[in-house]
Amino acid sequence: MKTLKDLTVDNKTVLVRVDFNVPIDETGQVMDASRIEAVKPTIDYLRERNAKVVLLAHFGRPKGKVVDELRFKPIIPVVSEVLGCDVAYVQDCIGKEVEAAVAELPVGGVLLLENVRFYVAEKDNDPEFAKQLASLGDLYVNDAFGAAHRAHASTAGVADLLPHAAGLLMQREVEELTHIVENPAEPVVAIIGGSKISTKMNLINSLLPKVEYLLLGGALANTVLMAQNHKIGKSLVEEELSGTVKDLLSNKLRVPVDVVVAKEIKEDAEKRVVAVGKIEEDDYALDIGPDTVGIYSDCIKKAKTIIWNGPMGVFEMESFAMGTYHIAKVVGETDAYSVIGGGETVSAVKKVGLEDQISFISTGGGAMLEFLEGNEMPGIKALD
Ligand code: ADP
Ligand code: MG
Repeated sequence: MKTLKDLTVDNKTVLVRVDFNVPIDETGQVMDASRIEAVKPTIDYLRERNAKVVLLAHFGRPKGKVVDELRFKPIIPVVSEVLGCDVAYVQDCIGKEVEAAVAELPVGGVLLLENVRFYVAEKDNDPEFAKQLASLGDLYVNDAFGAAHRAHASTAGVADLLPHAAGLLMQREVEELTHIVENPAEPVVAIIGGSKISTKMNLINSLLPKVEYLLLGGALANTVLMAQNHKIGKSLVEEELSGTVKDLLSNKLRVPVDVVVAKEIKEDAEKRVVAVGKIEEDDYALDIGPDTVGIYSDCIKKAKTIIWNGPMGVFEMESFAMGTYHIAKVVGETDAYSVIGGGETVSAVKKVGLEDQISFISTGGGAMLEFLEGNEMPGIKALD
Protein backbone atom coordinates (compact mmCIF):
# COMPACT_ATOMS: atom_id res chain seq x y z
CA MET A 1 0.00 0.00 0.00
CA LYS A 2 1.38 3.38 -1.02
CA THR A 3 1.46 6.06 1.68
CA LEU A 4 1.66 9.86 1.66
CA LYS A 5 5.45 9.87 1.65
CA ASP A 6 5.32 8.24 -1.80
CA LEU A 7 3.71 11.36 -3.28
CA THR A 8 5.14 14.80 -4.07
CA VAL A 9 2.18 17.04 -3.45
CA ASP A 10 3.67 20.54 -3.75
CA ASN A 11 1.43 22.69 -5.96
CA LYS A 12 -0.62 19.64 -6.94
CA THR A 13 -4.38 19.26 -6.83
CA VAL A 14 -5.03 16.26 -4.62
CA LEU A 15 -8.37 14.44 -4.68
CA VAL A 16 -8.92 13.12 -1.18
CA ARG A 17 -11.66 10.55 -0.52
CA VAL A 18 -12.89 11.05 3.03
CA ASP A 19 -15.66 9.55 5.15
CA PHE A 20 -17.96 12.45 6.10
CA ASN A 21 -20.95 10.18 6.63
CA VAL A 22 -21.58 11.84 10.00
CA PRO A 23 -24.64 11.26 12.18
CA ILE A 24 -27.09 14.19 12.11
CA ASP A 25 -30.18 14.89 14.22
CA GLU A 26 -33.69 15.78 12.99
CA THR A 27 -32.71 19.43 12.56
CA GLY A 28 -29.69 18.54 10.42
CA GLN A 29 -27.12 19.31 13.14
CA VAL A 30 -23.99 17.18 13.18
CA MET A 31 -24.16 15.05 16.35
CA ASP A 32 -20.62 13.70 16.26
CA ALA A 33 -17.81 15.20 14.20
CA SER A 34 -15.31 12.38 14.90
CA ARG A 35 -15.18 11.31 11.27
CA ILE A 36 -14.26 14.83 10.21
CA GLU A 37 -11.68 15.18 12.99
CA ALA A 38 -10.19 11.83 11.97
CA VAL A 39 -9.09 13.07 8.53
CA LYS A 40 -7.74 16.43 9.70
CA PRO A 41 -4.14 15.16 9.98
CA THR A 42 -4.14 14.11 6.33
CA ILE A 43 -5.67 17.38 5.16
CA ASP A 44 -3.22 19.36 7.31
CA TYR A 45 -0.33 17.34 5.92
CA LEU A 46 -1.35 18.20 2.36
CA ARG A 47 -2.06 21.89 3.04
CA GLU A 48 1.25 22.35 4.86
CA ARG A 49 2.98 21.01 1.76
CA ASN A 50 1.25 23.48 -0.57
CA ALA A 51 -1.29 21.13 -2.08
CA LYS A 52 -4.80 22.10 -3.19
CA VAL A 53 -7.23 19.75 -1.49
CA VAL A 54 -10.42 18.56 -3.21
CA LEU A 55 -12.55 16.38 -0.95
CA LEU A 56 -14.75 13.57 -2.25
CA ALA A 57 -17.27 11.93 0.06
CA HIS A 58 -20.64 10.26 0.33
CA PHE A 59 -23.48 10.98 2.73
CA GLY A 60 -26.35 8.63 3.56
CA ARG A 61 -28.09 6.50 0.97
CA PRO A 62 -29.45 8.72 -1.81
CA LYS A 63 -29.61 5.70 -4.13
CA GLY A 64 -28.15 7.38 -7.18
CA LYS A 65 -30.28 10.51 -7.30
CA VAL A 66 -30.13 14.02 -5.89
CA VAL A 67 -31.68 14.18 -2.40
CA ASP A 68 -31.62 17.71 -0.98
CA GLU A 69 -31.47 16.51 2.64
CA LEU A 70 -28.28 14.61 1.79
CA ARG A 71 -26.35 17.56 0.44
CA PHE A 72 -23.14 18.56 2.23
CA LYS A 73 -24.14 22.22 2.52
CA PRO A 74 -25.30 22.10 6.20
CA ILE A 75 -22.12 20.40 7.39
CA ILE A 76 -19.72 22.88 5.72
CA PRO A 77 -19.48 25.12 8.85
CA VAL A 78 -18.54 22.06 10.93
CA VAL A 79 -15.90 20.94 8.43
CA SER A 80 -14.55 24.49 8.33
CA GLU A 81 -14.39 24.70 12.12
CA VAL A 82 -12.68 21.34 12.53
CA LEU A 83 -10.12 22.07 9.81
CA GLY A 84 -9.63 25.65 10.95
CA CYS A 85 -9.88 27.09 7.44
CA ASP A 86 -12.42 28.18 4.83
CA VAL A 87 -13.98 25.33 2.91
CA ALA A 88 -15.32 26.01 -0.58
CA TYR A 89 -18.26 23.91 -1.80
CA VAL A 90 -19.97 23.14 -5.10
CA GLN A 91 -23.34 21.42 -5.46
CA ASP A 92 -21.99 18.72 -7.75
CA CYS A 93 -18.98 16.44 -7.95
CA ILE A 94 -18.33 16.45 -11.71
CA GLY A 95 -18.84 18.89 -14.58
CA LYS A 96 -18.10 22.46 -15.62
CA GLU A 97 -19.02 24.21 -12.37
CA VAL A 98 -16.80 21.82 -10.42
CA GLU A 99 -13.90 22.29 -12.84
CA ALA A 100 -14.18 26.06 -12.40
CA ALA A 101 -14.15 25.77 -8.61
CA VAL A 102 -11.09 23.51 -8.73
CA ALA A 103 -9.30 25.98 -11.03
CA GLU A 104 -9.98 28.82 -8.57
CA LEU A 105 -8.67 26.91 -5.57
CA PRO A 106 -5.58 28.55 -4.04
CA VAL A 107 -2.57 26.61 -2.78
CA GLY A 108 -3.50 25.28 0.69
CA GLY A 109 -7.21 25.69 -0.12
CA VAL A 110 -9.91 23.11 0.55
CA LEU A 111 -12.93 22.38 -1.66
CA LEU A 112 -15.66 19.89 -0.73
CA LEU A 113 -17.56 18.38 -3.65
CA GLU A 114 -21.17 17.23 -3.44
CA ASN A 115 -22.26 13.75 -2.32
CA VAL A 116 -20.78 11.32 -4.85
CA ARG A 117 -23.68 8.91 -4.29
CA PHE A 118 -26.05 11.28 -6.11
CA TYR A 119 -24.73 9.43 -9.15
CA VAL A 120 -25.64 5.78 -9.60
CA ALA A 121 -22.31 5.53 -11.46
CA GLU A 122 -20.49 5.89 -8.11
CA LYS A 123 -21.66 2.55 -6.71
CA ASP A 124 -21.37 0.91 -10.14
CA ASN A 125 -17.72 1.97 -10.25
CA ASP A 126 -18.50 3.22 -13.74
CA PRO A 127 -15.21 3.83 -15.61
CA GLU A 128 -16.52 6.97 -17.34
CA PHE A 129 -17.57 8.51 -14.01
CA ALA A 130 -14.24 7.55 -12.42
CA LYS A 131 -12.50 9.28 -15.35
CA GLN A 132 -14.50 12.46 -14.81
CA LEU A 133 -13.58 12.48 -11.13
CA ALA A 134 -9.93 11.72 -11.87
CA SER A 135 -9.76 14.59 -14.38
CA LEU A 136 -10.25 17.03 -11.48
CA GLY A 137 -6.93 16.27 -9.78
CA ASP A 138 -3.28 15.34 -10.24
CA LEU A 139 -3.10 12.86 -7.36
CA TYR A 140 -5.49 10.69 -5.37
CA VAL A 141 -5.42 10.00 -1.62
CA ASN A 142 -7.88 7.67 0.09
CA ASP A 143 -8.51 8.35 3.77
CA ALA A 144 -12.00 6.82 3.90
CA PHE A 145 -11.35 3.56 5.74
CA GLY A 146 -15.08 3.38 6.51
CA ALA A 147 -15.81 2.97 2.78
CA ALA A 148 -12.79 0.81 1.89
CA HIS A 149 -14.83 -2.41 1.71
CA ARG A 150 -16.67 -1.00 -1.33
CA ALA A 151 -15.45 -1.08 -4.92
CA HIS A 152 -16.93 2.27 -5.90
CA ALA A 153 -15.71 4.90 -8.38
CA SER A 154 -14.45 7.26 -5.68
CA THR A 155 -12.83 4.49 -3.61
CA ALA A 156 -11.40 2.16 -6.25
CA GLY A 157 -11.98 3.45 -9.80
CA VAL A 158 -10.17 6.77 -9.38
CA ALA A 159 -7.18 5.12 -7.72
CA ASP A 160 -6.46 3.21 -10.92
CA LEU A 161 -6.31 6.44 -12.92
CA LEU A 162 -4.05 8.66 -10.79
CA PRO A 163 -0.85 8.33 -8.75
CA HIS A 164 -2.28 7.36 -5.38
CA ALA A 165 -1.64 6.77 -1.69
CA ALA A 166 -3.39 5.99 1.57
CA GLY A 167 -4.02 8.93 3.88
CA LEU A 168 -2.75 8.92 7.46
CA LEU A 169 -6.01 7.61 8.90
CA MET A 170 -6.25 4.80 6.35
CA GLN A 171 -2.64 3.90 7.05
CA ARG A 172 -3.18 3.76 10.81
CA GLU A 173 -6.39 1.71 10.48
CA VAL A 174 -4.64 -0.82 8.24
CA GLU A 175 -1.59 -1.03 10.52
CA GLU A 176 -3.57 -1.44 13.75
CA LEU A 177 -6.07 -3.93 12.36
CA THR A 178 -3.41 -5.94 10.53
CA HIS A 179 -1.58 -6.29 13.84
CA ILE A 180 -4.78 -7.57 15.49
CA VAL A 181 -5.38 -10.10 12.71
CA GLU A 182 -1.82 -11.29 12.20
CA ASN A 183 0.02 -11.24 15.49
CA PRO A 184 -2.08 -10.18 18.45
CA ALA A 185 -0.70 -10.63 21.96
CA GLU A 186 -2.45 -13.68 23.42
CA PRO A 187 -4.84 -14.48 24.97
CA VAL A 188 -7.31 -12.68 22.72
CA VAL A 189 -10.83 -12.03 23.99
CA ALA A 190 -13.56 -10.86 21.62
CA ILE A 191 -16.77 -9.19 22.72
CA ILE A 192 -19.53 -9.19 20.14
CA GLY A 193 -22.91 -7.56 20.65
CA GLY A 194 -25.37 -5.39 18.79
CA SER A 195 -28.59 -6.11 17.03
CA LYS A 196 -28.29 -8.76 14.32
CA ILE A 197 -26.22 -11.90 14.41
CA SER A 198 -26.63 -12.23 10.64
CA THR A 199 -24.35 -9.21 10.11
CA LYS A 200 -21.69 -10.62 12.44
CA MET A 201 -21.81 -14.35 11.77
CA ASN A 202 -18.75 -14.25 9.50
CA LEU A 203 -16.84 -12.25 12.06
CA ILE A 204 -17.72 -14.68 14.85
CA ASN A 205 -16.67 -17.62 12.68
CA SER A 206 -13.36 -16.07 11.75
CA LEU A 207 -12.56 -14.96 15.31
CA LEU A 208 -13.42 -18.22 17.08
CA PRO A 209 -10.20 -20.09 16.17
CA LYS A 210 -8.09 -17.13 17.33
CA VAL A 211 -9.66 -16.28 20.67
CA GLU A 212 -9.61 -17.67 24.18
CA TYR A 213 -13.18 -16.48 24.82
CA LEU A 214 -15.86 -14.95 22.65
CA LEU A 215 -18.38 -13.10 24.78
CA LEU A 216 -21.81 -12.45 23.30
CA GLY A 217 -24.25 -9.76 24.35
CA GLY A 218 -26.94 -7.54 22.93
CA ALA A 219 -29.85 -8.76 20.86
CA LEU A 220 -27.65 -11.10 18.88
CA ALA A 221 -27.11 -13.23 21.99
CA ASN A 222 -30.88 -13.87 21.98
CA THR A 223 -30.57 -15.87 18.79
CA VAL A 224 -27.91 -18.05 20.42
CA LEU A 225 -30.00 -18.48 23.59
CA MET A 226 -32.90 -19.55 21.41
CA ALA A 227 -30.65 -22.05 19.61
CA GLN A 228 -29.86 -23.47 23.07
CA ASN A 229 -33.60 -23.95 23.60
CA HIS A 230 -34.07 -21.09 26.04
CA LYS A 231 -37.29 -19.12 25.98
CA ILE A 232 -36.56 -15.51 25.14
CA GLY A 233 -40.05 -14.00 25.23
CA LYS A 234 -40.60 -11.10 22.86
CA SER A 235 -36.90 -10.23 22.60
CA LEU A 236 -35.39 -9.17 19.30
CA VAL A 237 -34.20 -12.33 17.58
CA GLU A 238 -33.36 -13.72 14.16
CA GLU A 239 -35.25 -16.96 14.51
CA GLU A 240 -34.43 -18.13 10.99
CA LEU A 241 -30.76 -18.22 12.01
CA SER A 242 -31.07 -20.33 15.11
CA GLY A 243 -30.26 -23.46 13.09
CA THR A 244 -27.10 -21.94 11.66
CA VAL A 245 -26.13 -20.71 15.10
CA LYS A 246 -26.19 -24.27 16.48
CA ASP A 247 -23.11 -25.08 14.37
CA LEU A 248 -21.31 -22.20 15.97
CA LEU A 249 -21.63 -23.33 19.56
CA SER A 250 -18.19 -23.85 20.96
CA ASN A 251 -16.73 -24.03 24.43
CA LYS A 252 -15.06 -20.67 23.81
CA LEU A 253 -18.42 -19.00 23.38
CA ARG A 254 -19.98 -17.32 26.41
CA VAL A 255 -23.63 -16.28 26.43
CA PRO A 256 -25.51 -14.32 29.09
CA VAL A 257 -26.55 -16.20 32.24
CA ASP A 258 -28.86 -13.37 33.31
CA VAL A 259 -30.53 -10.48 31.53
CA VAL A 260 -32.35 -7.25 32.26
CA VAL A 261 -35.92 -7.58 31.01
CA ALA A 262 -38.94 -5.28 30.71
CA LYS A 263 -42.46 -5.60 29.33
CA GLU A 264 -41.93 -2.57 27.09
CA ILE A 265 -38.94 -1.08 25.30
CA LYS A 266 -39.21 2.24 27.08
CA GLU A 267 -36.82 4.26 29.20
CA ASP A 268 -39.13 4.30 32.23
CA ALA A 269 -40.49 0.76 31.84
CA GLU A 270 -40.33 -1.35 34.97
CA LYS A 271 -37.28 -3.62 34.69
CA ARG A 272 -36.18 -6.86 36.34
CA VAL A 273 -33.01 -8.89 36.40
CA VAL A 274 -33.77 -12.53 35.66
CA ALA A 275 -31.73 -15.65 35.08
CA VAL A 276 -31.80 -16.91 31.54
CA GLY A 277 -34.47 -19.61 31.77
CA LYS A 278 -36.80 -17.30 33.71
CA ILE A 279 -37.60 -14.96 30.85
CA GLU A 280 -41.39 -14.63 30.63
CA GLU A 281 -43.42 -14.81 27.44
CA ASP A 282 -44.09 -11.08 27.30
CA ASP A 283 -40.56 -9.97 28.34
CA TYR A 284 -38.01 -8.21 26.21
CA ALA A 285 -34.38 -8.93 27.11
CA LEU A 286 -32.72 -5.52 26.79
CA ASP A 287 -29.36 -5.77 28.53
CA ILE A 288 -26.99 -8.32 30.04
CA GLY A 289 -27.39 -8.82 33.79
CA PRO A 290 -24.88 -8.32 36.66
CA ASP A 291 -23.85 -12.00 36.92
CA THR A 292 -23.04 -11.98 33.20
CA VAL A 293 -21.07 -8.78 33.64
CA GLY A 294 -19.09 -10.53 36.41
CA ILE A 295 -18.31 -13.60 34.31
CA TYR A 296 -17.40 -11.50 31.26
CA SER A 297 -15.20 -9.22 33.38
CA ASP A 298 -13.17 -12.20 34.62
CA CYS A 299 -12.59 -13.30 31.01
CA ILE A 300 -11.68 -9.76 29.90
CA LYS A 301 -9.17 -9.39 32.74
CA LYS A 302 -7.21 -12.38 31.39
CA ALA A 303 -6.85 -10.86 27.93
CA LYS A 304 -3.76 -9.30 26.39
CA THR A 305 -5.77 -8.29 23.33
CA ILE A 306 -9.43 -7.27 23.31
CA ILE A 307 -11.61 -6.84 20.23
CA TRP A 308 -15.03 -5.32 20.85
CA ASN A 309 -17.86 -4.68 18.43
CA GLY A 310 -21.50 -4.21 19.36
CA PRO A 311 -23.19 -2.90 22.52
CA MET A 312 -24.37 -5.31 25.23
CA GLY A 313 -27.87 -3.83 25.39
CA VAL A 314 -30.14 -0.99 24.34
CA PHE A 315 -27.58 1.49 25.71
CA GLU A 316 -29.43 4.43 24.15
CA MET A 317 -31.82 4.12 27.10
CA GLU A 318 -30.22 4.79 30.47
CA SER A 319 -32.15 1.87 32.01
CA PHE A 320 -30.51 -0.66 29.71
CA ALA A 321 -27.03 0.85 29.43
CA MET A 322 -25.39 -0.67 32.52
CA GLY A 323 -24.10 -3.82 30.82
CA THR A 324 -22.40 -1.85 28.07
CA TYR A 325 -21.09 0.68 30.57
CA HIS A 326 -19.56 -1.94 32.89
CA ILE A 327 -17.95 -3.82 30.02
CA ALA A 328 -16.49 -0.53 28.71
CA LYS A 329 -15.10 0.21 32.16
CA VAL A 330 -13.46 -3.21 32.52
CA VAL A 331 -12.00 -3.03 29.01
CA GLY A 332 -10.66 0.45 29.76
CA GLU A 333 -9.09 -0.63 33.05
CA THR A 334 -7.10 -3.57 31.66
CA ASP A 335 -3.56 -3.23 30.36
CA ALA A 336 -4.57 -5.20 27.30
CA TYR A 337 -4.36 -3.76 23.81
CA SER A 338 -7.99 -2.93 23.04
CA VAL A 339 -9.66 -2.22 19.73
CA ILE A 340 -13.26 -1.16 19.33
CA GLY A 341 -15.32 -0.41 16.26
CA GLY A 342 -18.88 -0.10 15.04
CA GLY A 343 -21.00 3.03 14.91
CA GLU A 344 -23.06 2.32 18.03
CA THR A 345 -20.21 0.75 20.01
CA VAL A 346 -18.01 3.80 19.54
CA SER A 347 -20.84 6.16 20.42
CA ALA A 348 -21.62 4.10 23.57
CA VAL A 349 -18.00 4.24 24.74
CA LYS A 350 -17.84 7.99 24.06
CA LYS A 351 -21.12 8.55 25.86
CA VAL A 352 -19.53 7.25 29.07
CA GLY A 353 -16.31 9.16 28.43
CA LEU A 354 -14.05 6.12 28.28
CA GLU A 355 -12.68 6.59 24.76
CA ASP A 356 -9.24 7.64 26.04
CA GLN A 357 -8.87 4.27 27.78
CA ILE A 358 -9.16 2.34 24.52
CA SER A 359 -5.96 1.60 22.57
CA PHE A 360 -7.49 2.01 19.13
CA ILE A 361 -10.93 3.16 18.01
CA SER A 362 -11.62 2.17 14.43
CA THR A 363 -13.65 4.57 12.28
CA GLY A 364 -14.92 1.66 10.22
CA GLY A 365 -18.16 -0.10 11.07
CA GLY A 366 -18.80 -2.56 8.27
CA ALA A 367 -15.29 -1.95 6.96
CA MET A 368 -13.70 -3.02 10.24
CA LEU A 369 -15.82 -6.17 10.37
CA GLU A 370 -14.78 -7.09 6.83
CA PHE A 371 -11.14 -6.39 7.55
CA LEU A 372 -11.18 -8.57 10.67
CA GLU A 373 -12.94 -11.30 8.69
CA GLY A 374 -9.95 -11.26 6.35
CA ASN A 375 -11.94 -10.17 3.29
CA GLU A 376 -10.28 -8.38 0.42
CA MET A 377 -10.87 -4.62 0.67
CA PRO A 378 -11.14 -3.06 -2.81
CA GLY A 379 -10.44 0.47 -1.53
CA ILE A 380 -7.18 -0.70 0.07
CA LYS A 381 -6.12 -3.01 -2.72
CA ALA A 382 -6.42 -0.12 -5.18
CA LEU A 383 -3.72 1.73 -3.23
CA ASP A 384 -1.00 -0.86 -3.94
P1 ADP B 1 -22.44 -1.45 15.95
O1 ADP B 1 -22.95 -0.27 15.16
O2 ADP B 1 -21.60 -1.01 17.12
O3 ADP B 1 -21.77 -2.48 15.09
P2 ADP B 1 -24.99 -2.74 15.86
O4 ADP B 1 -25.39 -1.82 14.77
O5 ADP B 1 -24.80 -4.17 15.51
O6 ADP B 1 -23.70 -2.19 16.61
O7 ADP B 1 -26.11 -2.75 17.01
C1 ADP B 1 -26.35 -1.62 17.79
C2 ADP B 1 -27.78 -1.61 18.26
O8 ADP B 1 -28.14 -2.82 18.89
C3 ADP B 1 -28.01 -0.52 19.27
O9 ADP B 1 -28.75 0.51 18.69
C4 ADP B 1 -28.76 -1.21 20.41
O10 ADP B 1 -29.89 -0.50 20.88
C5 ADP B 1 -29.19 -2.51 19.80
N1 ADP B 1 -29.32 -3.56 20.82
C6 ADP B 1 -28.39 -4.02 21.65
N2 ADP B 1 -28.90 -4.93 22.50
C7 ADP B 1 -30.21 -5.06 22.18
C8 ADP B 1 -31.30 -5.83 22.73
N3 ADP B 1 -31.11 -6.68 23.73
N4 ADP B 1 -32.52 -5.68 22.15
C9 ADP B 1 -32.70 -4.82 21.13
N5 ADP B 1 -31.73 -4.06 20.59
C10 ADP B 1 -30.50 -4.17 21.12
MG1 MG C 1 -24.67 -0.04 13.91
